[in-house]
Formats: sequence, structure tokens, C-alpha cells
Amino acid sequence: MFAFYLLQMKVIDHINQSKDTLISFEILPPLKGKGIQSLYQHLDPLMEFKPSFINVTYHRSEHVFKKNPDESFQKVIVRKRPGTESICAAIMNHYSVDTVPHLICGGFNVNETEDALINLHYLGIDNVLVLRGDAAKNETAFLPESGGHKYASDLLKQVVDLNSGIYLEEELKNTSQTKFCIGVAGYPEKHFEAPNMESDLHYLKMKVDMGADYIVTQMFFDNEKFYAFVKSCRDIGITVPIIPGLKPVYTKKQLTMLPKVFHIDLPLALSTEIMKCKTDDDVEKVGTEWLLEQSRELKKFGVPVLHYYTLGRPNIIADVVKELV
Ligand SMILES: Cc1cc2nc3c(=O)[nH]c(=O)nc-3n(C[C@H](O)[C@H](O)[C@H](O)COP(=O)(O)OP(=O)(O)OC[C@H]3O[C@@H](n4cnc5c(N)ncnc54)[C@H](O)[C@@H]3O)c2cc1C
Repeated sequence: MFAFYLLQMKVIDHINQSKDTLISFEILPPLKGKGIQSLYQHLDPLMEFKPSFINVTYHRSEHVFKKNPDESFQKVIVRKRPGTESICAAIMNHYSVDTVPHLICGGFNVNETEDALINLHYLGIDNVLVLRGDAAKNETAFLPESGGHKYASDLLKQVVDLNSGIYLEEELKNTSQTKFCIGVAGYPEKHFEAPNMESDLHYLKMKVDMGADYIVTQMFFDNEKFYAFVKSCRDIGITVPIIPGLKPVYTKKQLTMLPKVFHIDLPLALSTEIMKCKTDDDVEKVGTEWLLEQSRELKKFGVPVLHYYTLGRPNIIADVVKELV
């Protein structure tokens, strides 16, 4: 006899059924070779906060050059963090918590995407965060896979179609409909490729009009930017929930790395405090305090969910969240 304890829920149902601000986490699959236990060690200290869902990022393959014994180089394809879909299933099984796999356009053709969605459907995973993905490491701009999607909105259409039972083979009859709840990305400080905020918001609205259920934002460190973003979204008729993405600062190096990689600003008050720090332990204290203040304010503002990027520092997230509950 099988016992199945998890009542799977969509992110949008978690939000609609709660009067309070919820908590959720984002994790990365472990580096290849590490094993799933390393992930459980990362998540264990966070599970006491009863996250409503856990997102698992997707990492496409990279081309790297490997040195041969004769000193020549060989181009090989490596996938450093495989396993997004199966990790989602494993986490659901291990902790009885809903999971949200990230799905990207890069590196997939539409048939592979359909297969991935069918696998998720079979696994009982009804949530996806639909993204374009960034350019591959060796490319300067994003290039879609041959026969793949160019924008997140194209991928979103494929998920929406599957939710209506429309598969790529149109002649299939009496098809099963998937029931994915779809999240998309939004950028309070504008996506770096967008010529201006208006254009970026136009395409964000397009994703929502096409069927996205909610938006999760890129990290930001100045809540005023988030509030302005929410207002701009509401002004152009985006009504779906907007979930803030939050990350702690814990090293001095991040002062330059975060703006470079994620195209975001750190407020002067935060960067000034970090510059005064003598060690990264001091930076961690400043970063933790900043994240706590940000979280408290956002909760007061009434955000539906506080979504934490936990990469490498679950202890900081735990320190912050325990002060909120
Ligand atoms: C919450 C979150 C989670 C993420 N997780 C991952 C992950 O797991 N793996 C990963 O590889 N990356 C991830 N990313 C990074 C993301 O893939 C990149 O930021 C990527 O560059 C853009 O993705 P998008 O889904 O916002 O793209 P899109 O919505 O396609 O937008 C990309 C750019 O094109 C513009 N645009 C959109 N549609 C059109 C159109 N039809 N015509 C012309 N211009 C258009 C937009 O304004 C924007 O400038 C994540 C980002 C966020 C915010």
C-alpha cells in the first residue's frame, strides 16, 4: 500500500490561499560529483521555516577547452550542475514540499522542451519558472538553439499550449492536458539587454497576457526600486502577484561582482558600510542586517512571498527568516 502525504499545490494557489507573506527559497543543483546529500545539508537548516515552495535553477551545458597530453586543446561539452527535474522530484519526496523547476530556452529545441515538460507532468510537478536563459559562456549574446525558442514568451506559449492539450504532433487525439502554474522573471532595474524600462515592461506584460500566473524579480538591494517597479507594472495593467527575489551580500568581492554579473546597483548606504568592513565576516554581518531590514519592509508593504536566493549561505537566510516569523 502506498502512502502519499504531499498535497501538491501550485504557487498561485499557495499565494491565493494565504493572508500572510509566505517564504520560499531558490537553490542550485549540486556540482556534478557532489551527490544529493550535499543539497539536503544545505536545505535542512531552512526547512523549519516551512517554505511554501523551493525553486531549483537550470544550468545549461558549457563548452570548455581541455588540454590533451600532447599540449593541444580539445573542445568538450560539460554540464556542471545537471539534474534540475529529478532534484525537484527528490526534494518533494524528501521534505514533502512543492518545487518549481526553472526551464530555459537556451540549449533546447522544442521537442526536447516538450519531453522535459512531459517528464515534469508525469512526476506530478505542476509549477515551472519559464526563462530565456543567458548567453552560453563562450558566446557574447544569447543564441537560441536550432529549432529552439528565442524568448521566454515563446517557451511560455509552448507550456500554455500543453496546458490546453496541444502537443507538437498536432495529429495526436484525446491528449492529456498538463496543468502547469507558470512564473516568469521581472527586473526592477531593467533587463540589461532592454533599451529602456518601457520596452522591458511591455514584454513582461506580454508574458503575463499570454498566461504567466506570477512574476519573480531579479535580486535588488533597494526596496524603493521594487516599489517603483510594482507601480509601473500596475500602471500598465499587470495584475498578477509580484514576488521579490532577495539575496544577502557576504563578501567584499560582491560589491563589484553583483553589478557586473546581474546588472543591478548596490545602494550607497550599503556599499559604504561594506567598504568599512575589515573582514568578510564583518561584511556578512552588514549583509545580514541589510537583508533583514529589506525583508521587514517588504513584508510590511504586503508582498505575497519573500523569495530568497540561498546559494552557498543558508545560515544567513535562516538568521534573517527566524527574525521574521
Ligand atoms: C528569478 C530569476 C531566475 C532565474 N533563473 C535562471 C536559471 O535557472 N537559469 C538560467 O540560465 N538563467 C536564469 N535566470 C537568468 C535569466 O535567464 C536571464 O536574466 C535572461 O537574460 C533573461 O531571461 P528572461 O526569461 O527574463 O527573458 P525574456 O523575457 O525573453 O527577455 C529577454 C530580453 O528580451 C526582451 N524581450 C522579451 N521578449 C521579447 C520579444 N518578443 N521581442 C523583443 N525583445 C523581447 C526583454 O525586454 C529582455 O531584455 C533567472 C533570472 C531571474 C530573474
